[in-house]
Amino acid sequence: MAIGDELVTGQTVDTNSAWLAEQVRVRGARVRRLVVVGDDVEQIAGVFRQGLDQADWVIATGGLGPTADDLTRAGIARAIGVKLEESREALGRIEAFFERWQRPMPAGNRLQALLPGSCAVVPNPRGTAPGVWYRGPRSQLVALPGVPGEMKAMFADSVAASLGAAASGRVGVVRRVNTFGLPEAVVGEAIADLMVRARNPAVGTTASGGVISIRVVGAADSAAEAEALVAADVAEVRQRLGSVVFGDGDEALEHAVARLLMAAGKTVATAESCTGGLLAKTLTDVPGSSAYFIQGYITYSNRAKTALLGVPADLLELHGAVSGEVAEAMARGCRAAAGTDFALATTGIAGPDGGRPPERPVGLVYVALADAAGVRVERLLLGAHLSRAEIRDRAAKVARNMLRLSLLGWPAA
Ligand code: AMP
Ligand code: MG
Repeated sequence: MAIGDELVTGQTVDTNSAWLAEQVRVRGARVRRLVVVGDDVEQIAGVFRQGLDQADWVIATGGLGPTADDLTRAGIARAIGVKLEESREALGRIEAFFERWQRPMPAGNRLQALLPGSCAVVPNPRGTAPGVWYRGPRSQLVALPGVPGEMKAMFADSVAASLGAAASGRVGVVRRVNTFGLPEAVVGEAIADLMVRARNPAVGTTASGGVISIRVVGAADSAAEAEALVAADVAEVRQRLGSVVFGDGDEALEHAVARLLMAAGKTVATAESCTGGLLAKTLTDVPGSSAYFIQGYITYSNRAKTALLGVPADLLELHGAVSGEVAEAMARGCRAAAGTDFALATTGIAGPDGGRPPERPVGLVYVALADAAGVRVERLLLGAHLSRAEIRDRAAKVARNMLRLSLLGWPAA
């Protein structure tokens, strides 16, 4: 249950529920429903009563702050029919928190020690709001603060183990395999037989920003068994999809590129027009990137393309800045100027204006990769339905992926 006016008004996206749902599932319990309510005692109490009636566990986040609109404590008290009482344990923890930070405690924070009677305190290592744990005759309710960092730490420290022990005893394992370069439908076709419903492991795809991920979720009586089940599917998925797979879990294209560049001891530089530095930014998002990233040029104007990269003025005149010829010259000039093994260049129409369909629509981007052997240019039609930010993001991803495939020796597929 997620509690907060900012959630029901759409100002804040409820990420806590998604995170908790995953945590619950991998511990072998089933989430019956996710509920979002505003800061309203009647609503909160009503949903708590229903939850305690219909489920073994109710986990709530939010509304434990020190201000008058934080009503979760009162909602619990009303749902279970007790009064709020000052908890000496909670007050002690709040006071200790301020002592550790060497700050005076505002009077309002004392409110956070007012807990429903007969409830236990869930310690908060990162903030002042104590969590509340009600152990009822049939079900239990745990209320955690809304701040995601505090909520996650408290769940891991105090809740996860009990929940795992109380659940079916089956252990869940989740792994993700990330791909780039094939549409979701094509990826789905390649692994269709693994994606049938009610299979264990469950295999599914998700698309985000052009990256298609395959999630493999397995459950078994022991962690080792679940791990083995999932590992077999992950290996099968990787084998079928080949070089479109670039990484696991939270790995992004830039991590794959970093690994390959470091292993090969090679360097890269960038020359960007339409991506405006995004390519250099993402390549240097990886710690240790100074080992391979030498420099980047943001050559937005024709003048800069000529002055910094040596793109001939008559080439720009003849083909236009958004052309394969100019992308190639940018990459070649960048590699020479930076003295690197590789150079990546981007030039395109990010929109929303400036397109001239059908030949030169918004989303037309040329990406070039120069290395010792020459220059390879790709012409992309990313689609005018994408936003400016999406077109720039996609172009920079294609560039990173080209470098990745080049470092792999341009595998067949
Ligand atoms: P609260 O514990 O209700 O005072 O919440 C403190 C802050 O945590 C809020 O201002 C939000 O920024 C954030 N927050 C609360 N609930 C959620 C949620 N369900 N998902 C993500 N962030 C949240
Ligand atoms: Mg709140």
